[in-house]
Amino acid sequence: MKSIEIKVKSNCCQTNNLESQVENLKENKHLPVAIIGAGSVGLAAAAHLTKYNQPFVILESGSQVGENISTWGHVRLFSPWEYNIDKVAKVLLAKQGWKEPNLNELPTGNELVAKYLKPLSNTPEIKDVLHLNTRVLSISRKNIDKMKTANREKLPFVLYTEQDGSFKLFEARAVIDASGTWGNPNPANSSGVWLKEEASVHEQIFYGIPNILGKDKNRYLNKRIAVIGSGHSTINALLELATLKEQSTEIEIFWVMRKQRAEDAYGGEDLDALKARGELGSRIHQLVDSGIVNVITPFRTQYLQGINGKINLVGDKNGEIQTISNIDELIVNTGNRPDFSILSEVRTGIDTVTESVSALAPLIDPNIHSCGTVRPHGEKELRQPEKDFYIVGAKSYGRAPTFLMATGFEQVRSVVAYLSGDIEASEKVELDLPETGVCSTNLNTSNNSSNNVSCCS
Ligand SMILES: Cc1cc2nc3c(=O)[nH]c(=O)nc-3n(C[C@H](O)[C@H](O)[C@H](O)COP(=O)(O)OP(=O)(O)OC[C@H]3O[C@@H](n4cnc5c(N)ncnc54)[C@H](O)[C@@H]3O)c2cc1C
Repeated sequence: MKSIEIKVKSNCCQTNNLESQVENLKENKHLPVAIIGAGSVGLAAAAHLTKYNQPFVILESGSQVGENISTWGHVRLFSPWEYNIDKVAKVLLAKQGWKEPNLNELPTGNELVAKYLKPLSNTPEIKDVLHLNTRVLSISRKNIDKMKTANREKLPFVLYTEQDGSFKLFEARAVIDASGTWGNPNPANSSGVWLKEEASVHEQIFYGIPNILGKDKNRYLNKRIAVIGSGHSTINALLELATLKEQSTEIEIFWVMRKQRAEDAYGGEDLDALKARGELGSRIHQLVDSGIVNVITPFRTQYLQGINGKINLVGDKNGEIQTISNIDELIVNTGNRPDFSILSEVRTGIDTVTESVSALAPLIDPNIHSCGTVRPHGEKELRQPEKDFYIVGAKSYGRAPTFLMATGFEQVRSVVAYLSGDIEASEKVELDLPETGVCSTNLNTSNNSSNNVSCCS
């Protein structure tokens, strides 16, 4: 059995004055802020903490920064560099002589990691406090569980982690959870229920966006493939499959979705203010019209059957049970959900519908809003019942698929200002998002109106 090493990490600053030391200790000021996740938002939080000279640690489960982004690294983003770089991070990078990319270009996920996140993580302010291969398992207040209230706010947080196979504790004065939702996918089942039937065929399912024209190519050659979903990620996978079909004509492509009509998934096309995103919609529209992509909609998958090495999708189509048979490979892009298992001992306010931070739900509920209509928000909206604990980034949106990095940068700017005592800055709104005017504010996918379009995934 593997031995378990217990180390207690405490970052105690030095002070000569006993009184202020006692005062600091009382308020845990000697402890760092712990950031969970070194994605684009976690690293932006780090940059903002350096601006205020606040000690911090970053705990990242992956072996590199931008671990989640790297899993879809071959995909091109739809927002240009201008919106993918945090302003304070840019200042840190500039001090190291960083060469800024062309702000009008659209990076791939891999370029975002290589040209921005990695250099940022290598700045002297960040590199020594970044802990890779460190998975946070749970967070609590020191020596008490969620039930205890007395003195709760004065106690430091303790983060239970597994680092390179060993158990390790970190203490912190505040926690910023920027651990995202990617990597915790929704199932194929249209009711969101994970069934053992789905697990039994998992080797033929890819959750996310496979690199169809690159390392995963052989998996899809000459196969009968179904893609479930209707967002940006699904459209990316379908476009790549269509390109592969030019070399491997036996490929059959089925696009399975809950929406009433394929048109409801095309987005704004020519009218989309984010040009690249509009083009994706137009290209998939053409592939459907030309019959290269076979649309099966509305189809609500109920369960999967594995039979003789093939998958059958059994679902409800307009009230009748139908089967899409003999599928070789399934690509599931039904969205992601937050993992709350690490938060069971802290007090959280989570919306019951979206699983977002409670106060954000009315701003982002995709039943009502699309990404263009999300109001900027900051510390006040993100504040949790557990003092000095914040959920930011994609995870703050819960299951809502409309998160943009620029929104996350604004979130951490405000949260870090608040944690650093700069209340005035925390209350300001400094978000500058692209105008996405084509997004509907009354999204209703069961309505046949072509005005009702989604622009995010
Ligand atoms: C295909 C695709 C295209 C996109 N295009 C755009 C775009 O054009 N513009 C835009 O603004 N946004 C875009 N997005 C959205 C945006 O990239 C993501 O929402 C963004 O990466 C979210 O950042 P994050 O830091 O919140 O989370 P993530 O990038 O997911 O980072 C979370 C980090 O936390 C780590 N982690 C998870 N659990 C733990 C744990 N328990 N302990 C320690 N570490 C942990 C992960 O390894 C990861 O590194 C796109 C998303 C996808 C999927």
